[in-house]
Amino acid sequence: MPKPRVIYWFRTDLRLHDSPALRAALDLKPECLYLIWTWDPHYVYRARVGPNRWQFLLDCQNDLSKSITKLNSKSKLFLIREAPQTLLPKLFKAWKITHLVFEKDTDAYASERDSKVMELAKEAGVEVVVRMGRTLYDPDELVKENKGKPTMSITQVQAAGSKIGDIARPIPAPKSLPDPGDTTLDFEQDKPTQDPDINAKQRDADEGSYNALSGPNGDFAVPTMEELGLKPATTPHRGGETIALKMLDDIIANEDYTATFEKPKTAPTAFAPQATTLLSPHLHFGSLSCREFYWRVQDVVSAYKGKASQPPTSLTGQLLFRDMYFGAQASLGYSFGQTYNNSHCRFIPWHLPSTIDTSTSLITGSYQIDSAQANQYFIRWREGRTGFPWIDALMRQLKLEGWIHHLGRHAVACFLTRGGCYVDWERGAEVFEEWLIDHEAACNIGNWQWLSCTAFYSMFYRCYSPIAFPKKWDKNGLFVKRYIPELANYPAKYIYEPWKAPIADQKKCGTLVKGDGSTSEDREGKFKTYPKPMFDFPSQREKCIQGMKNAYHIGLYGNDKKVLDGTWREL
Ligand code: FAD
Repeated sequence: MPKPRVIYWFRTDLRLHDSPALRAALDLKPECLYLIWTWDPHYVYRARVGPNRWQFLLDCQNDLSKSITKLNSKSKLFLIREAPQTLLPKLFKAWKITHLVFEKDTDAYASERDSKVMELAKEAGVEVVVRMGRTLYDPDELVKENKGKPTMSITQVQAAGSKIGDIARPIPAPKSLPDPGDTTLDFEQDKPTQDPDINAKQRDADEGSYNALSGPNGDFAVPTMEELGLKPATTPHRGGETIALKMLDDIIANEDYTATFEKPKTAPTAFAPQATTLLSPHLHFGSLSCREFYWRVQDVVSAYKGKASQPPTSLTGQLLFRDMYFGAQASLGYSFGQTYNNSHCRFIPWHLPSTIDTSTSLITGSYQIDSAQANQYFIRWREGRTGFPWIDALMRQLKLEGWIHHLGRHAVACFLTRGGCYVDWERGAEVFEEWLIDHEAACNIGNWQWLSCTAFYSMFYRCYSPIAFPKKWDKNGLFVKRYIPELANYPAKYIYEPWKAPIADQKKCGTLVKGDGSTSEDREGKFKTYPKPMFDFPSQREKCIQGMKNAYHIGLYGNDKKVLDGTWREL
């Protein structure tokens, strides 16, 4: 029997530690092992990915490549610039591959892509080995043990999880890696076979730098931001397995923090350092294994002499929330990502963007508002110029750094949807998709549904005040002053409500509260400006609650006929 020739396809698992799929590849005792990452056009062209997440991905790839080379000087992460669906069949042939191994991915697009790849592998006579490693439980198993239904609560995850059995202990990183085989690509001179759907303009623009599958220097190197034509990243948070494991070590070394962590007690206004672990981007890219995280924490909790916190508020509880959203997504597929045709998402007649319909007012129960107005609210929210310093500081932190605390995400998501602007959660989720370095489709979508009270959670009358809530954590507004330098001289008394400061005080602070934030100086250029609040929050909140009440009363879901055919407008 000839020895296996294996491609290991890295995707959601940019690490060497605790990788059940990589272990399975090594267990094949391959003659040669090609460790590759393919340039998936879905990620490169279609998904919204801002420079900060790009940088994080490249950091992870560079770090992984270096770690691979440390274990085998002939090997590294081979980056190949073509869609997996078209590239892999060519690689099977060129490199005489017998096995393809990868970590299971239950995202809607990824499942579809992987089914296609498995079909192609079968046609080529290549055996495919898939292992779970991205979540604590296999999302498909969770759904199966939840009576075939999406997991919509932590209790359901815990009940289904107990039927699946114990969460597996992590496995150590390999101590050595086999050589790769010959990496010549005899089809290299051909133009990359691109996915036909790729936006043609974008493809033409990119062809200059992407006319070689193995990169401009033909060495399968990780690209740079400049080469990708991207703006430099502005985030201070950097990627890579080495950093992730060091961060985890530091957290675990603080036994009290690890064992008594309670999410609702962590301050959303804390920065440098933040109050929670900031491991989410590492979990997203797989530079940290969630089982490694889970068991390192659980071992501290088990040995802890004091009173340890428990799920759902504990650290391990946070990982269960992550699994809950993966379970919901695995069950609902593409429909999970939107209201339309989603059997588990309540239909709320939010405002539509003005580009779709600027002429009509939308009827939301007793609450009517012009959709162009809603669009303005959305734009000002996105740009961090709502006139509510707490909201604006968070949105500016998000854009600049790519990460905000969970309760900060609560605040801005509630404000945009049911607790302020009454704008569709899907529009907010798109902004998060672009700017978050930890963007995880399942978690982003699920949490937006939670915060907008369209799924998972329904207490729509409980809204976050942009004034009272941050005051509780940060009386002096240090967080606001960090991200809104215009307000740096404002006293604590006015920091969350600068519009209440008398004009003389505003002048003394060097910033006038006026306009909508589209300019940052007053007409004479004597003072900086910060916008006036875009609405009176208490009365706006009441209107939103009324709208939600009516929508709940009508009780439509995304897959109701009236929603699908648009006749909800007649209600
Ligand atoms: P910690 O509190 O230290 O928690 C540890 C880990 O548990 C996190 O790294 C994360 O993987 C997981 N986790 C914690 N809370 C949640 C949660 N509510 N849902 C799912 N997983 C959780 N998280 C993402 O990973 N990607 C997203 O795209 C994302 N979008 C969100 C959008 C909104 C509107 C909201 C309200 C929350 C979103 N979250 C998302 C969940 C949560 O805010 C982040 O996971 C968390 O803030 C990350 O910081 P941390 O690593 O310090 O978390």
